[in-house]
Amino acid sequence: MRHNTLFIRTGTALFFSLLLTALLSLLLPSSNGAGSPFRIFAAFVCLASALFLFLLRHWNHTLPFSEYSPPADSNRVEKLTEQIIRTEKMASIGRLSASIVHEINTPLGIILGYSQLLSEDTPDDSPAKENLKIIEKQARNCQRIVADLLKFSRRPPSRVEDMDVSEAAMDVLAVMEHDLAVNGIELKRHFTIDLPKVHINTEQIQQVIINLINNAAHAMDRGGVLHVRSSLDGKGIRLSVEDNGPGVPSDLQEKIFEPFFTTRSKGKGTGLGLSISREIIEKNGGQLTLESPFTDGHGAAFHIWLPGIPREKKNG
Ligand code: ADP
Repeated sequence: MRHNTLFIRTGTALFFSLLLTALLSLLLPSSNGAGSPFRIFAAFVCLASALFLFLLRHWNHTLPFSEYSPPADSNRVEKLTEQIIRTEKMASIGRLSASIVHEINTPLGIILGYSQLLSEDTPDDSPAKENLKIIEKQARNCQRIVADLLKFSRRPPSRVEDMDVSEAAMDVLAVMEHDLAVNGIELKRHFTIDLPKVHINTEQIQQVIINLINNAAHAMDRGGVLHVRSSLDGKGIRLSVEDNGPGVPSDLQEKIFEPFFTTRSKGKGTGLGLSISREIIEKNGGQLTLESPFTDGHGAAFHIWLPGIPREKKNG
C-alpha cells in the first residue's frame, strides 16, 4: 500500500474510533454510572479530537479522508521537474515551429499554386515544363519539412501502463504548488483515492495535466483559486482542473481546441497545448471537455474523462 493511502486510512480509522469511543463513554453502563463527570469529560475529549481531525481536513487538505499531498520522494520530484522543463522546452519549440509554419506556409502555398498554374499553361514539350515540375516538387518538400518540424512538439507515443490518475496529478501538483503560490494562486486538492486505474502513458497524462494547470495559471494572472479534483464517473475516472479566471466566451469554446488557436500575445502562446492534450486523451479512449462559465458567471473547468480498467480484470 502506498504511503499516502496508509496515512489517509489511518486518519479515517482514528476519526471513527474517536467517535465510537465518545459514544461508548456516554452510553455504556458501569459502576460509576453512564453519566459520571469522568465519562462526560472523556466523551468531550474524544469528540473534540474528532472535530479537530475533521477541521484539519478542510483547512489543510492533508487529513483524512481524501485530500493529501504526498511528500513525493526525491527521485519522483526530480523526474517530474525534468518533465516540466521538457514540457516548457516543447512549448518553446512549439512556439518557434508555430511561427515558422505561419510565416512560411502562406508563401509556400502561393509558390506551389502559381507553379501549378504555369505548368497547366505550358505545353508538355516545352523545356520550362520540367523546370516547373522541379519547383512544384521542391515546394512540396519544403511543406513536408515544415510539417515535420511541428511534430517535434508532439512527443512520440510511449509505453502505456495501468496507472492511477490521482497519484499522477498529486505528483505534478507537489512540484508545481510552489510556483502557483508565488503567482498568488491558491491550490485546492479534492482527490478520491483508490479509483480504478487507467491504461495510459504516465508522462503523457502528466503533460496534459501540466498544460491545463499552466493555462489556468495564465488565465488567473492576478491570482485566484485552482481546484483539482478526481472522481469516479460512470465506467471511468474524471479529473478536473477548475479555475476562477475570466472563463472562455461561448463562441470560442470549440475553437480553443483547434491547433494554433491562441488568444495570448505573439510569442507567448502556441495554441497547441489544448489540441495536443485532446489528441492524447482521445487516443486513449477518453474525452477532454470544457465547462465555462463554471462558477458565478466566470471561470473554466477542463474535465478529462478516461475509461477505467474493471477491477476484476486488473491483474489478468
Ligand atoms: P496557448 O496556451 O498556447 O494559447 P492552448 O491550446 O493551451 O494554447 O490554449 C488555447 C487558448 O484557450 C488560450 O489562448 C486561451 O484563450 C484559451 N484557454 C485555455 N485555457 C483557458 C482557461 N483556463 N481559461 C480561459 N481561457 C483558456
